[in-house]
Amino acid sequence: MTETVSVLLPIPADRPYTYAVPEGMAVRPGDHVQVPLGPRQVAATVWDVDGDKVDPKKLRQITDRFDCPPLSDDMRRFVEWVAHYTLSPPGMVLRMVLRAPGGLEPPAAIIGYRWAGGEPERMTAARNRVLELARDGTAWSKSGLAHAAGASASVVDGLIKLGVLEEVALPHQPLVPMPDPGHGAPALTDDQQSAADVVCEAAKGGFSVALLDGVTGSGKTEVYFEAVAEALKAGRQVLILLPEIALTASFLDRFEERFGARPGEWHSDVAPRKRELLWRQVATGEVRVVAGARSALFLPFADLGLLVVDEEHDSAYKQEDRVFYHARDMAVVRGRIRDFPVILSSATPSVESLVNAQRGRYRHLRLENRFGGAALPDICTIDLRRNPPPRGGFISPVLAEAVAKTFEKGEQSLLFLNRRGYAPLTLCRVCGHRFQCPNCTTWLVEHRFRNQLQCHHCGHSEPTPQACPHCGTFDHLAACGPGVERLAEEAVDLFPDARILVLSSDLMGGVKRLRLELEAIAKGECDIVIGTQLVAKGHNFPLMRCVGVIDADLGLANGDPRAAERTFQLLSQVTGRAGRAGGASTGYLQTYQPEHPVIDAIARGDREAFYEREIANRESAALPPFGRLAAIIVSAGSKREAEDHARGLRRAAQMPEGITVLGPAEAPIFMLRERYRYRLLVHATLKAKLQDWLSHWLASGPKVRGSVRVQVDIDPQSFL
Ligand code: ADP
Ligand code: ZN
Repeated sequence: MTETVSVLLPIPADRPYTYAVPEGMAVRPGDHVQVPLGPRQVAATVWDVDGDKVDPKKLRQITDRFDCPPLSDDMRRFVEWVAHYTLSPPGMVLRMVLRAPGGLEPPAAIIGYRWAGGEPERMTAARNRVLELARDGTAWSKSGLAHAAGASASVVDGLIKLGVLEEVALPHQPLVPMPDPGHGAPALTDDQQSAADVVCEAAKGGFSVALLDGVTGSGKTEVYFEAVAEALKAGRQVLILLPEIALTASFLDRFEERFGARPGEWHSDVAPRKRELLWRQVATGEVRVVAGARSALFLPFADLGLLVVDEEHDSAYKQEDRVFYHARDMAVVRGRIRDFPVILSSATPSVESLVNAQRGRYRHLRLENRFGGAALPDICTIDLRRNPPPRGGFISPVLAEAVAKTFEKGEQSLLFLNRRGYAPLTLCRVCGHRFQCPNCTTWLVEHRFRNQLQCHHCGHSEPTPQACPHCGTFDHLAACGPGVERLAEEAVDLFPDARILVLSSDLMGGVKRLRLELEAIAKGECDIVIGTQLVAKGHNFPLMRCVGVIDADLGLANGDPRAAERTFQLLSQVTGRAGRAGGASTGYLQTYQPEHPVIDAIARGDREAFYEREIANRESAALPPFGRLAAIIVSAGSKREAEDHARGLRRAAQMPEGITVLGPAEAPIFMLRERYRYRLLVHATLKAKLQDWLSHWLASGPKVRGSVRVQVDIDPQSFL
C-alpha cells in the first residue's frame, strides 16, 4: 500500500498538498523533498505524514528526498504561527526558510589521498619525500601533498596509479571554526557584571525575554556576549540579529576577539555558495553562531538556544514585502515556541518593549553609564528662527563655528541629514514645473554626482536635463531643499582645509566602499563626515566629538503614530556617535521648534520624559502596544479598480465591538510603481481577535480580480 503525505510547497497556496510516497522511500515530517508541481520540480517540505484521504493512484509522487536534516518540529510550528499572525500563506513563510536550495544537497565530497600500505618497486627521492609524509596515514589533498613534499603533482599521480596511495573522501571543512566561549572574556564593570549575571542565568533556562537597555557605548554587546558564551558552553546554537550587518564588519571583528572565531554571516551580500553552506551547516549544527539580517530568523537551526536582537528598535527589522513581519516580534515568538531565552538590546528601546519591561513581562536590565567613564554628549538646540543659516545655505553659523573649533582641535565632526542626493525637489524657475516620477506620486531627487534625477521609491532615473521639459527654458532649474551632496558643497566652502567624506548608501561602490569608508572614519582619516541614517547605526567612531543634525524636525513632520518615537530614536542614536571614547562632546540639533516635546527631551537628556509622555499618549489613544493596528493596502493598475475594491471592502466590514475600520483613503504615496494605492486602517482592542476577524472580512469582501492586489500589514510601522 502506498503512503500519502502532506507537503508544504513554497508557493502562495493556503494549505499543504498531498503527494504519494514512492515505494522504498521513507519520509518523516520535516523532511525536505522534491515534488512535481505542474511541469516543474520544486523543493518542498513534508508537513504531515497523514495526507488527505485520496486514492494514492490519483496522486503525483514525491520525486526525491534530500539528504538533509529535517526541519524541526518547532520550526514547522513557527512557520505556521508566522503565517497565521501575518495572514500570509504558510507556503510563503516556508519559502523564506528554503532560501538557499543548494544547501539541501550535501556538498560534493573533496577527494584526498592516503598511504595504502605498500611501497613502489622503484623508489625515487621525490617518491620517498611524498611517502615520508603519507606513511603516518594522514589524508592529503593531491596538491597539498605534492607541495608539502616539494614534488610535482605527477609524482603523486604516479604513486596513485601504482596503488601505493589510495583515494579517500576528506572530511569537509566547517564554514567557520568553532567559537571558544573562554577565548577573550573581558573584565566587566560592576554594572555590566550584574546584567551579565542575569542574562547568563537566563541563558541556562527556557523561554524568557530580557530587555538590555543601556546608553550608547555602555557595553551592551559585551554583556550579551556573556550570554552567548553560556549558550555555547551548553552546546547550543546562537543567533544574533543585527539591523545593518553588511555594514558592521567591526562587529564580526569584535566577535572574533571575544570568541576566537568569526560567526557565520547571513545577509544578502554574502555570496550564494557561502549562503548555501551556511544554511546547511546551521541545519547540521556545525555552525554554532550566526550573525545575520532579519531573514536569518528563518534559518533551520538544529538546536537554537539563544537569540539576540541587537538595536531592537530599528525599523530595518520590519519586512514590508510579500510576508510583512517584524523580526523582533517574531524572534520572541521563536523563543517561546522552542523554549529558549531572547535578549533585546537597545539604547533607545521601542515603546512596545519598554512597556513589556515595565509590566514585568520582560526582565529590564539597565546600563546607565558609558564604559570607561566616557560621558554622553551635551546636547544643544540651535533655534533656526534666531540663528538662521546664510541665504542658500543649511548650516547655521552656530553649528559652523562648533565644527570649525572641533576641526582646529584635530577632532572629528558629523553632519547628519537624512536625505540622499543633492536636493529633494527640482523645479523650473520660469514656469514652476516640478520634476515628478512617471511611476509614482513622488518628486524626483537630484543626484548631482551622477547627474541624474531619481525616484527613491521605484528606482526610476533620468539624466538631469539642461532645459525645462515643460517650457523649454535653459539653465533655470532650481534645486529646492538640501540633500547630503548639497550639504557637502556647503561644507567644502565653509571648511576648505578639512577632509570631508560623504557617506550615503547610494554612492558608487556599494557595500564594499561603505565598509572601507566606515573604517577610514574610525581611523580618523577624515575630519568632517556628512551622512544619512546609515551613520547612526551602532558604529564606533572613537574620534567623533561633534555631531550636528541639520534638520531635527524632519521626521516629526510625517505625522504618523510612530513619528515621535522614530525621531527620538534616530536623534539619540546619531548624537550618541559622539564622545564614545571619552572627552567632552556635543550634539547640536538645528530646529524650528526647540520646544517640541521630543526635541526638548533630547536636549535635556531626559529620556524618561519622552517615554513617559509617549506611553501616556499611546495609552490614551489605544495605540500599540495598548491597542492593535493592521493596515490594508489595496492597489491596482487603474485608479477605478483600486478605489472600487477598497470601497467594496469597506462596505463588507461588519465591525464587532472592539474593531474599527478607518478609510479607505488615498495612500500618501498614491501611485507607486504605476499602481494606485488606497489604505484602510483597522484598529482593534487587545482583546479582539484581530487576525480571525481580518481573514473572515477579507474573504467576505469583493473578489480580488484583474490587477487588484491586497496587502495586509499587521502592526504597521510605515504608513506611506
Ligand atoms: P554598546 O553596545 O552599549 O553601544 P559596546 O558594547 O559597543 O557598547 O561598548 C562600547 C565600547 O566600550 C566598545 O569599544 C567596547 O569594546 C568597550 N567596552 C565596553 N565594555 C568593556 C569592558 N568591560 N572591557 C573592555 N572594553 C569594554
Ligand atoms: Zn517612482
